[in-house]
Amino acid sequence: MSNLTQQQVLSVHHWTDTLFSFTTTRDPAFRFENGQFAMIGLEVDGKPLLRAYSVVSPNYEDNLEFLSIKVPDGPLTSRLQHLVVGDRIVVGHKATGTLLLGNVRPGRNLYLFGTGTGLAPFMSLIRDPETFERYERVVLVHGCRQTDELAYRDQIAHEFPASEYFGEMLSDKLIYYPTVTREPFRNRGRITDLIRSGSLFADIGLPAIDAADDRAMLCGSPAFIADMRGILEGLGMSEGNNATPGEHVVEKAFAERA
Ligand SMILES: Cc1cc2nc3c(=O)[nH]c(=O)nc-3n(C[C@H](O)[C@H](O)[C@H](O)COP(=O)(O)OP(=O)(O)OC[C@H]3O[C@@H](n4cnc5c(N)ncnc54)[C@H](O)[C@@H]3O)c2cc1C
Repeated sequence: MSNLTQQQVLSVHHWTDTLFSFTTTRDPAFRFENGQFAMIGLEVDGKPLLRAYSVVSPNYEDNLEFLSIKVPDGPLTSRLQHLVVGDRIVVGHKATGTLLLGNVRPGRNLYLFGTGTGLAPFMSLIRDPETFERYERVVLVHGCRQTDELAYRDQIAHEFPASEYFGEMLSDKLIYYPTVTREPFRNRGRITDLIRSGSLFADIGLPAIDAADDRAMLCGSPAFIADMRGILEGLGMSEGNNATPGEHVVEKAFAERA
């Protein structure tokens, strides 16, 4: 367990029957870049049961926050969903991932496309002043089935713009575009369909995404990633990684069970 630390749960919030978030203490030695994920979990029968989790909280905060799915028979989340304040979780000391500002070439607009818990890494990136220093516009597109799954909707729309640290930049530059597929809402439809039809761009008042001006980060289901890769690569937007920056970068929000 030398590369793991135990952290205490400070708060738990259940968004829906299948989605919750929680905050924990943070080991001062745990460093990460906004957009990265770490291995976290629980000790079960004396052994750590770990899964990859994107860090929701920005890297300058004293505590950590995570957004989690509840998979009914999931080895970790069938247990993790019962966390209460004061419980302990284990956190790996190393953070990693490709959704880093440094992995995306400079451009005019940065699109952050996330489905479900794929919002998580973007929650830290939209509270990073550097994100707004690099781009004229940052467009956060979050797709879910239902409106109650649009986690952090009020914080993004109302609380963050009032922040002393990054609020002004966020108010000037962030366009937040939540969309749902299964109930009436002001924005409706799958992200891929909204891009293909052009509705997304008409709604936000920007030209259709293109390789010259736009950059993108993707985080969502494997199917969403596959579709989005097809769209972006069709536009000539190459994929970046930790060795070579590109016009877009990709992280799966989860892996399908084998
Ligand atoms: C790079 C990376 C980052 C991740 N970040 C997060 C995160 O921030 N929050 C989070 O909840 N999960 C995240 N995951 C998924 C996470 O690692 C676990 O799969 C999840 O916590 C469920 O664990 P489990 O042991 O209960 O079930 P598992 O056996 O791990 O998963 C069972 C099945 O549940 C489904 N599933 C798992 N995770 C999700 C999800 N997030 N959304 C929808 N369906 C899912 C898949 O079909 C999967 O095959 C991430 C995965 C990767 C690879």
